[in-house]
Amino acid sequence: MPNYNVAIIGGGIAGLSLAYFLSPHRSVVVLEREDALGYHSTGRSAAEFVLRYNAPEVCRLAAISKPFFDQPPQGFTEVPLLKRRGGVMIASSEKLARFEQILAEEREATPAIERLTVEEALARVPILKPGYAAAAFYDPNFWDIEVENLLQGYVRGARRNGCDILERREILAARHDGSGWSIETSAGEVSARIVVNAAGAWADPVAALFGVSPLGIVPHRRTAITVDLPANVDATSLPEINEIDEDFYMKHEGCRLLASPADATPCEPSDVQPEEIDVAWAAHYVEEATTVPVRRIFKSWAGLRSFSPDKLPVVGFARESPHFFWLAGQGGYGILTAPALGALGASLLAETPEPEGFRCEGLDPARFDPRRFQK
Ligand SMILES: Cc1cc2nc3c(=O)[nH]c(=O)nc-3n(C[C@H](O)[C@H](O)[C@H](O)COP(=O)(O)OP(=O)(O)OC[C@H]3O[C@@H](n4cnc5c(N)ncnc54)[C@H](O)[C@@H]3O)c2cc1C
Repeated sequence: MPNYNVAIIGGGIAGLSLAYFLSPHRSVVVLEREDALGYHSTGRSAAEFVLRYNAPEVCRLAAISKPFFDQPPQGFTEVPLLKRRGGVMIASSEKLARFEQILAEEREATPAIERLTVEEALARVPILKPGYAAAAFYDPNFWDIEVENLLQGYVRGARRNGCDILERREILAARHDGSGWSIETSAGEVSARIVVNAAGAWADPVAALFGVSPLGIVPHRRTAITVDLPANVDATSLPEINEIDEDFYMKHEGCRLLASPADATPCEPSDVQPEEIDVAWAAHYVEEATTVPVRRIFKSWAGLRSFSPDKLPVVGFARESPHFFWLAGQGGYGILTAPALGALGASLLAETPEPEGFRCEGLDPARFDPRRFQK
């Protein structure tokens, strides 16, 4: 039976970023149930990098991750991992008070934010419907992430370090014999000293297979659609469009417009599919806020954003077992925080110094310790 120091369950961005950072120090295997890596949440994201608009801890994780995106190690990727897009926040006339409050808060953190007149907003976002937005501001701090390149960079780097990344390996059962885990998969047994749970929406049920109590990580469905743009609109030059309370957001996806009703419906882990009602809401917002006619929906999909009880990621050893490690609960920010969380997980597992950036950002890694839920 193949034997490793660490077996990582889950071949999404969490498991693969950890494999990348940990494989120089430990023998590592990644076990993924599906035929393809990144098939679930990682392959269904909106690919947005933003330094603000999330919990303060998440914003700090984004800041810690940013240097990796800007300057990945030599040979990691041939294309830039981030492309600046900028975002325009818009509010309808009923939300003017809320708009002023958010603008004041955000300007304090980001002086580069520009208040826009309605005319300026229409000039920056030519597809905006005249009369919809009563107020707007522009925030330069939105970027597109090259998710597939990021994922493949982690895969190549980990493999170069000797990591085995195995698809079509569903974890079915496990037992601990006092010194290590024997893990039964759909394609044979694997043994490892430590198991990492990076199973995304399945994090709680996977923990149960190892006799570890669940943390209360709940998947929430989110839907997106893409629609054709009129021939005279260049999708790639559009900024991201965000409703001030995140009732919806829109951005380009290739040459089309991606729209999401920002739904967050708690559900069971599964290969989730979009519900008609959420697709209809996405189309409704496109027609309400823009001049783009929704003649057909080119593509619709849904994915799961999995949240811990306090909505912060979980990185660390389980209270019940020094051989079971959590890397889960990345919610709606697992791609943009992957460099920081992958490096943090590796430092805890390999007992190496805390990754760069945490001290600088004043972020104590203990904030993400799973034992905070198991008093
Ligand atoms: C619509 C949408 C928009 C989003 N937009 C953004 C965004 O703009 N920016 C951002 O940073 N984040 C965004 N996110 C969130 C981001 O996609 C997730 O936080 C991230 O992908 C989570 O990665 P993961 O590796 O934990 O999960 P996953 O990618 O789901 O990977 C977990 C893997 O574990 C495997 N697995 C589960 N159980 C088993 C088992 N028993 N045996 C073996 N393997 C198993 C699964 O098959 C899966 O491949 C968005 C998500 C959605 C749905």
